[in-house]
Amino acid sequence: MQILDGKQCALQIKESLKIDIENNFIKKGFRAPKLVVIMVGNNPASHVYVSGKAKACAQVGMDSQIFYLEETTTELELEKLIKNLNKDNSVDGILLQLPVPDHIDGQKMIELISPDKDVDGLTKANLGKLVANDMTGLFGCTPSGVIELLKHNNIDLKSKDVVIINRSLLVGKPLAFMFLNENATPIMAHSKTNALAEKTRNADIVVVAVGKKNFLTEDMVSEKTIVVDVGINRDQTTNKICGDVDFENVSKKVSWITPVPGGAGPMTIAMLLKNTYKTALNKIKRN
Ligand code: NAP
Repeated sequence: MQILDGKQCALQIKESLKIDIENNFIKKGFRAPKLVVIMVGNNPASHVYVSGKAKACAQVGMDSQIFYLEETTTELELEKLIKNLNKDNSVDGILLQLPVPDHIDGQKMIELISPDKDVDGLTKANLGKLVANDMTGLFGCTPSGVIELLKHNNIDLKSKDVVIINRSLLVGKPLAFMFLNENATPIMAHSKTNALAEKTRNADIVVVAVGKKNFLTEDMVSEKTIVVDVGINRDQTTNKICGDVDFENVSKKVSWITPVPGGAGPMTIAMLLKNTYKTALNKIKRN
């Protein structure tokens, strides 16, 4: 078994981005790329993610700004902020941290973000570009991170059978198109899928993003399986972060596996930085 080390891969991406920002922005007299993150309410997990994103920006020499909005913020107030940020020339990337409180329609708010600044790749314009394999789009950070991590480890995706256990807009759907664009053959499995264990056992690559500890067990994989664990759960007994894979037993059987933490998580942040860099570079090219 070999480890798909997301932490190490993300570190390399960040080191190379830092050099690119210095050479292509700072030394040429342009301001550093800037990411704005909007967080509505007080979700404790979101607080950790948002500060992690700001810290990562600083590590590569990017600017960032976080808007912490009250739980009671209205859609209209959020709409105003997003529209102002769309117009603001000093802002390259805009990210609305999900989930938002129940009285706000998250997808409707995301749709207000200018596709040029949509660093989460969640607007319909960018999702459409992904489906069309149009590389001018901005694509989702978590699914992009999965593909990048596999490629970084020289895993050839062409003709591979892939089972993705997730069909959300954030993970499963964009990831399925990314695998398709790499000439792999993806299946999106979900809670109504029949004979899941049979499908995962026969797959070359299994990506799991269910949100349940120990969901993927030893009997669901084979010796050839490459396992990517996107799940983030808190172990109630140890209080530590864990994924969806029974790592102890599955790792003894499969060919490659991501750890949690240190797999898909750091890759997601690295891809967010890459997307923000891309938006800023696009702006320079347009002007
Ligand atoms: P979600 O929308 O709740 O998606 C969960 C998916 O799991 C759904 O497609 C659901 O199927 C499927 N599922 C649930 N129970 C199942 C079962 N028994 N058998 C087969 N499929 C089942 O959540 P999400 O936002 O996509 O996130 C999924 C997980 O990834 C969470 O743990 C989240 O924290 C994590 N995540 C991690 C990162 C990262 O950076 N590492 C980023 C994003 C998300 P249905 O569609 O039928 O309900």
